[in-house]
Amino acid sequence: MQAADTPSPSRPADPAQARREVLPEAATTQERDLAYMDLALDQARAALALDEVPIGTVIVAGGAVIGRGHNRTRTRRDPTAHAELIAISEAARTLGAQRLVGASVYTTVEPCFMCAGALSHARVERVVWAVRDPKFGGCASLGSVLSDPRMNHRAEIAEGVRAGEARALLQEFFRSKR
Ligand code: ZN
Repeated sequence: MQAADTPSPSRPADPAQARREVLPEAATTQERDLAYMDLALDQARAALALDEVPIGTVIVAGGAVIGRGHNRTRTRRDPTAHAELIAISEAARTLGAQRLVGASVYTTVEPCFMCAGALSHARVERVVWAVRDPKFGGCASLGSVLSDPRMNHRAEIAEGVRAGEARALLQEFFRSKR
C-alpha cells in the first residue's frame, strides 16, 4: 500500500514547475495564455532535445494541466505522433472521458488538419497557438477546421502568444538540418 504522501505520477517532480502550473484565481486570460504557452514551449524544447521538430502542447481544464505532449514522429516512426494528439490522449486519460469539454489547448504551432480534427472531436473550448504553419496549418493558414460554421463543433481560437520563442526553436531545429 502506498503512503498517503506519495506524489501521484501525474504531478510534476520539480516543485518550481508545479508552482508555475498553478495560477492565481484572478489571473487574466492574457496571463494564463502566457504562463501555459511557456509550459507548451517546455514541451517543444523536450522535442528538440530528441532531435524532433520542436512543437509542444499542454491542455488545461479546471485550472490544472491535464495533458501534455511533444512531437515524437521520428522517435516513434509514426506520422500521427503529433504533440497535440499525444496531449489529447493524455488529457482524456486524466479525465477518464472521451470529450475534453471546457478545456483550453496551448500549442506552439498552429494545429494541422489531423490535429484540428482531433481537437474538434474532443470538443475543446479554446485553442491558442504561437505561430502559424503555412504548409500544414488547418486552423487559419490553409483551412479553418476549428471555426468553420459547417463543423459540428467550433472552438474559440487565438494566436501569436510567445510567437518569437516558438519561431526561434523551429529555426534552431531547421538550421541544424541544413
Ligand atoms: Zn498535427
